[in-house]
Amino acid sequence: MNEFDLIRRYFTRPVPPGYLGVGDDCALLPVAPGKQLATSTDLLIEGRHFLPDADPASLGYKALAVNISDLAAMGAEPLGCMLGLSLPRVDEAWLAAFADAFHALAHEAGCPLVGGDTTRSPDGIVISVTVFGQVEPDRALRRSAALPGDDIWVSGTLGAPHAALQWLTGQWPAQPALLAEARPALERPVPPWRFAQRLPGLAHAALDISDGLLQDLGHILKASGCGAILYYHQLPIDAVLQPLDESLVREAVLSGGDVYQLCFTSPSRNRDAIAELARAFDVRATRIGVIESGAQLKVHDAAGRPVPITSRGFDHFA
Ligand code: ADP
Ligand code: MG
Repeated sequence: MNEFDLIRRYFTRPVPPGYLGVGDDCALLPVAPGKQLATSTDLLIEGRHFLPDADPASLGYKALAVNISDLAAMGAEPLGCMLGLSLPRVDEAWLAAFADAFHALAHEAGCPLVGGDTTRSPDGIVISVTVFGQVEPDRALRRSAALPGDDIWVSGTLGAPHAALQWLTGQWPAQPALLAEARPALERPVPPWRFAQRLPGLAHAALDISDGLLQDLGHILKASGCGAILYYHQLPIDAVLQPLDESLVREAVLSGGDVYQLCFTSPSRNRDAIAELARAFDVRATRIGVIESGAQLKVHDAAGRPVPITSRGFDHFA
């Protein structure tokens, strides 16, 4: 199979009206008049981000999901995506599973694949996805927009992807039943992109939790020149963590990555509107803290005592 057959068979799909998809020198996307284009790229490298035997369907799904998560974190509406793919060899079963999962999510999210590039790479698979979205000018949810007094919210639950990864890599003692329960959160994260598109105007700052709640919230605090208190007892701890030791739960919930849910801040007057929006889109949204002046991030328990934190690479701790 040559490069062109491969592109035609696996990566060429009908696109919606107003689009020009695969096959010309550029793709064309119907950006609505007056809207701002939002764009982001993520790179996945075999051996670094995934193992050589990783399930191709999970890879195809996740390569796009992590990018849609970035659009959600800006409050942008998905418009389309591009796929750069380097492969050591043509493995049709791998390509079919990868492409089917990719296109299924692209369709679901209104983010059609409109182009890309395909090359050979002797040293392993490289997957690069770029997404495009649109947002009202000046209404994107920037990391720098948090204000003292804002509530801090998180969507979904915390901890399950981290737990799944620890069990899969043997870093935690094997728990096959719990792993089976947690694994979809790692391999099939569902970013709340519909909910997120309605946050501009209600939320101030937002980002997606890819590196862990403390680390990622730290980015908002740094960009906004603020501090924060998190209420540990209010965190939406995933039910799969219930049987675990308290210290493991804390690690998973505060520092566990790969979540692809949103952490966002919003003035307290918008509490009801956000709860309503979350209900409308079937998203769990939980208030977990408050933005303060200063530069420290504190985590408190129900009695107001500091929760011990052991996290590397973060320097805002009290
Ligand atoms: P060019 O020579 O203009 O770079 P290519 O031969 O690389 O074009 O690609 C032909 C068409 O196929 C282009 O429209 C390109 O966007 C698309 N394409 C190539 N690889 C992929 C891919 N992995 N996924 C989606 N579209 C692709
Ligand atoms: Mg090319």
